Amino acid sequence: METDYLVIGGGSAGCVMASRLSEDPKRRVILVEAGKDEEPPAIRSARFLTYGAPRFLWNDLADERGPFAQPKVLGGGSAINAMHMQRGAPQDYDEWAAFGVHGWSYADVLPYFQKVESDLDFAGAHGHSGPIKVHRVPPSEWSGLSKALAAVLPKRGLGHIPDMNAQSGDGFGAVPLNMDRGERISAARGYLSPTVRQRKNLLILSGSEALRLRFAERRVIGAEIRDSGGPKILTAGETVLCCGGVYSAGLLLRSGVGPGAQLRELSIPVVADRPGVGENLYNHPMLFVGVHLRAEGRQPARAIHPCPFLVRYSSGMSACTPTDMLLNVWERVPGRLAWDPSGSQVAILNLIVNKVYSRGSVKLDRGRPQGPPKVQFNFLTDERDLLRMIAGVSFLRELLNAPQVTSVVNEAFAPVWPPIAITMMGDGTKAQFLSLLGSVALRAGGPIRRRALRDLGVPLDQLAASKTDDIATYVRTYMLPSYHVSGTCRLGRQDDPAAVVDNSGRVLGVDRLRVADASIFPTLMAAGCNLPVMMTAEKIASAMLSEQT
Ligand SMILES: Cc1cc2nc3c(=O)[nH]c(=O)nc-3n(C[C@H](O)[C@H](O)[C@H](O)COP(=O)(O)OP(=O)(O)OC[C@H]3O[C@@H](n4cnc5c(N)ncnc54)[C@H](O)[C@@H]3O)c2cc1C
Repeated sequence: METDYLVIGGGSAGCVMASRLSEDPKRRVILVEAGKDEEPPAIRSARFLTYGAPRFLWNDLADERGPFAQPKVLGGGSAINAMHMQRGAPQDYDEWAAFGVHGWSYADVLPYFQKVESDLDFAGAHGHSGPIKVHRVPPSEWSGLSKALAAVLPKRGLGHIPDMNAQSGDGFGAVPLNMDRGERISAARGYLSPTVRQRKNLLILSGSEALRLRFAERRVIGAEIRDSGGPKILTAGETVLCCGGVYSAGLLLRSGVGPGAQLRELSIPVVADRPGVGENLYNHPMLFVGVHLRAEGRQPARAIHPCPFLVRYSSGMSACTPTDMLLNVWERVPGRLAWDPSGSQVAILNLIVNKVYSRGSVKLDRGRPQGPPKVQFNFLTDERDLLRMIAGVSFLRELLNAPQVTSVVNEAFAPVWPPIAITMMGDGTKAQFLSLLGSVALRAGGPIRRRALRDLGVPLDQLAASKTDDIATYVRTYMLPSYHVSGTCRLGRQDDPAAVVDNSGRVLGVDRLRVADASIFPTLMAAGCNLPVMMTAEKIASAMLSEQT
């Protein structure tokens, strides 16, 4: 099968790319996605019910600490994520100029953010005709806990920011969500609408995995694909990788584009020796603190999203940029459990080192180069990341001990993730039974509840009063990875050996190949990647279309 553009990976970036490129009816576009083309109610609901659901994930991936899943469904991360739609701060983009990246300052990328969005709440700095509707939960609908935090934060110099995307800097406010009338607007739903899908020049091949790229010398001429019918070859005038921060690098490496010595060791013929492929892997580390809420602290039963409130603050550490920390307030525990009687009694304060410095890598597995790539995050290896997380424990304790907050909170605990908690957060009858038992224990009087919580974690006050080394050990052991994987095919100057793509996403050292997803970010923005990824795909699609005219 032959096409003008072959887009590989139908996630946040790939849906945008396929939609925009196929606006020109003269250009044929094929979008290849390994996952299914489906949007069951669990995805469509804004309640974030898909958290950890294996059906929508690559389940064979791991990092150095254990399983680390990635999205595998049309829409990618945007179909199963927490729906937080943040741009990041202007300086996040402005700092990319230090890598010789031109045309990606905040002023340059702002029009592409606006192209993505239809902001339902604010005018001014926003777009209003983009495919992704953006809406916030108003303060009147926040939980008692979030309202109490909103009363306490100004005393720490953190004021209310009504529009967290238009205004950067420290403060708290409602999270912009890709949501309309209680439903998720994924990239697939927004960009591959029924009208777009009717285009005769767009073919969506779901359940199809690209195995490797095909070359004529250094020119990419398509890819080998495997679907339920077996292997196939797709040929294309230009190929665009949108497989995300792990798999775009993995596909390049498997195809012979990457560090020459590493590829030769694996007997992979080297097409282009690009030492930067798979390096520079960024992700945000997270720490969870659980809080058992009194009835007046809980989210109302009619709530539509479990995490509508966030706080940005500055650690004040001298070697870090301002507004480097984030606190997401999960008014219920994330996932299916949120809507169970036990999950709705517990809030989670999710502390994130938002401007992160530790970096890792994605490499092919020496024993199985054609299998899942090996992911090594090296979390907290940059001392600044570790120290800020340790300091975050005290920040949380102080917030939770403020009188307005204690009036809605029973106990705060630092989770140690026992198997029972993991089982409860899953699916199935056993999970539901345990959740029911848990809800009874949590509703019981103080001693029974405290006994139940002791199985889940250590009291926060006790952890915060420990020696710094002990807090460091806790943080290293129980932190969790977020899913903001990025940086492994980074933008840069043509003469920069560590750069993988140029300012228009073209892969250096080969022809007719681009990358247009989270992997091209030189550094990670102080935000989740979903909206920045869609902005990136809009910008590169626009460059491609203008090159054609
Ligand atoms: C549980 C979860 C919660 C998150 N919460 C948030 C949040 O609230 N806010 C936020 O901003 N970000 C969040 N993120 C991260 C965000 O969703 C991602 O950063 C973003 O979706 C990445 O977009 P992408 O296009 O680069 O990759 P993805 O969206 O991951 O898309 C890559 C796609 O490529 C496909 N693919 C990979 N390899 C191949 C191959 N060889 N052949 C064919 N197809 C292939 C995959 O199946 C996948 O669908 C979250 C992610 C997860 C998983």
